[in-house]
Amino acid sequence: MTSTLSKTKQACLRVIPLGGLHEIGKNTCVFEYGDDLMLVDAGLAFPSDGMHGVNVVMPDTSFLRENQSRIRGMIVTHGHEDHIGGIAHHLKNFDIPVIYGPRLALSMLTGKMDEAGVTDRTTLQTVGPRDVVKVGQHFSVEFIRNTHSMADSFSLAITTPVGTVIFTGDFKFDHTPVDGEHFDLARLAHYGDQGVLCLFSDSTNAEVPGYCPPERSVFPNLDRHIAEAEGRVIITTFASSIHRVSMILELALKNGRKVGLLGRSMLNVIAKARELGYMRAPDELFVPIKQINDVPDRETLLLMTGSQGEPLAALSRISRGDHPQVKVKTSDTIIFSASPIPGNTISVVNTIDKLMILGAKVVYGKGEGIHVSGHGFQEDQKLMLALTRPKYFVPVHGEHRMLVKHARTGHSMGVPEDNTLIINNGDVVELTPDSMRKGDPVKAGIELLDQSRNGIVDARVLKERQQLAVDGIVTILAAISTDGAMVAPPRVNLRGVVTTADARKMSLWTEREIKWVLENRWKQLCRNVEGSSPEVDWMGVQREVEVGLGRRMRREMQVEPLILCLVQPAPGGTPVYKGRADAEPDTRPSSRGRGGGRHGGHGRDSGNGHVRRDRNAAPARVVPSRVIGTPAPAAAGSAPAAATPAPTPAPAKEPVAAAVVVTSAPEPEMPAGRTRRRRSAAA
Ligand SMILES: [Zn+2]
Ligand SMILES: [Zn+2]
Repeated sequence: MTSTLSKTKQACLRVIPLGGLHEIGKNTCVFEYGDDLMLVDAGLAFPSDGMHGVNVVMPDTSFLRENQSRIRGMIVTHGHEDHIGGIAHHLKNFDIPVIYGPRLALSMLTGKMDEAGVTDRTTLQTVGPRDVVKVGQHFSVEFIRNTHSMADSFSLAITTPVGTVIFTGDFKFDHTPVDGEHFDLARLAHYGDQGVLCLFSDSTNAEVPGYCPPERSVFPNLDRHIAEAEGRVIITTFASSIHRVSMILELALKNGRKVGLLGRSMLNVIAKARELGYMRAPDELFVPIKQINDVPDRETLLLMTGSQGEPLAALSRISRGDHPQVKVKTSDTIIFSASPIPGNTISVVNTIDKLMILGAKVVYGKGEGIHVSGHGFQEDQKLMLALTRPKYFVPVHGEHRMLVKHARTGHSMGVPEDNTLIINNGDVVELTPDSMRKGDPVKAGIELLDQSRNGIVDARVLKERQQLAVDGIVTILAAISTDGAMVAPPRVNLRGVVTTADARKMSLWTEREIKWVLENRWKQLCRNVEGSSPEVDWMGVQREVEVGLGRRMRREMQVEPLILCLVQPAPGGTPVYKGRADAEPDTRPSSRGRGGGRHGGHGRDSGNGHVRRDRNAAPARVVPSRVIGTPAPAAAGSAPAAATPAPTPAPAKEPVAAAVVVTSAPEPEMPAGRTRRRRSAAA
């Protein structure tokens, strides 16, 4: 069995992306031949709206964990987070015998591995241009210098038993690179001459016609804005854009301004890049931020993080007026030398608004010529295809439409449509010297990490967080005896729930759900053991009530709050609470037995966790947090008794669920419409 398997595997090269396709971020690719696995990059992505409390998104690495004994090594193309940000995390799960990569990227990786305590799980090997390394029995990789927004970046020529694959990494063709390190076009052409089996190429800007302007082109524009500034200059850009930061430091020197740095990553990257010689700036150029206010405004340049409107970054804090050292002055010129990553646009424009309201001059946007991309446009992509002349072509590093556009560019360059594949994460590209096809996919998906980076936020936790954020929570405390009777009115408590239902209705619905469960499910949930007290599946009872009430609220009020039912068991024989449900017949159709299975239609857009609401529904109002429980049976009918806490659910003599607490503390009333506003701001 094993020998047949390895025979079929040996016949072809399998290329398996686990991240980076149909998205920008978490680029992670596996090359497999025979028993050898080689990884190329392992990045992270940042969470999208609705991923509450998640700060890092990783690819699902089940495939790698299952095959860890076959991992022979890893290749790193460059030091951007979407290419190296996942490595330290993965090393907690499996060893990687050796990681080859550029000096700058590996030195940044060292810090991350130290932090994660995984330095002993691999060996780091620095490579230079045209170095060739052997990984396992079957892979030989040449590092080809390329140009990108990050310094010390490489494209790869991967030679395998079935032929050579060119894996571009992130690139643009910049013929006047800031650091003087030119794209090694000769090497690409060399492989093109020898014959390239397949090209895997960066698709980020596949939709943009023309050539990507060189990084140097922003220099005169930044120079002009800095020279014209009357007061302080504040510039924000990506810390990892080494070339951009180099130019800004050069311009500060040229314009006689001292530089103050803000933001952890800005300080770290500049320190590392200067230490390794990727950035040249005299020590005297820098002033510690605590002393920056001693420097005249006209001679000050502040370089900081926050170009993406990240809430905790320096510039965002300054825009909110809560930075300890730096306050905005009306004479400030603030320059955004970056463009918003899709998804960050709203945070960025909000930050710009705040800074403008504070009176600063803000320079931003495409028309100013103060930012260029690090990824090639269509003409750059054509040049790559022209130099490498691949037999097969797979666009990578991009969202779906970018991959499709890039494939079309390939067709226009003579790559036959049949020789092109649009793939997704987990797809397997099987290559032989004269064929390319999709094999059976492997498991791929996402793994969400919370702030601590140790905890994994699974799909269930994320769904609960989304429900809490969007629709709030309903808690129910039900007192039920072991002989299956409701013995006290249930207490219902709403937090953050926007609903048209009044307290009385909620309370009635809850009673009905409990009664329904007791009448229709009790037999299945309770096991009578002869001679001893019955065994009740209390968790099952709780779940049944939660599901039933959830369905009713979803259908009748178009809300989907998290529902938490806690049962306080009472001994058999406890006097039964009759409830009001019988007195007021349910005129609405039952929440049960209609509309198919219990776990049926959700009306939830799984993509972003936003609930589609019925636009014709009555205007929502906020039910402030309170206990809705009906009073003791004697007082039934005097509802709504919402303002006062219900009396203790009598007469449960031996309360088993002692930990159950129903909060009744009044909360400040939430202004109506807050939930909706938040949602539209996040959209
Ligand atoms: Zn990059
Ligand atoms: Zn990238």
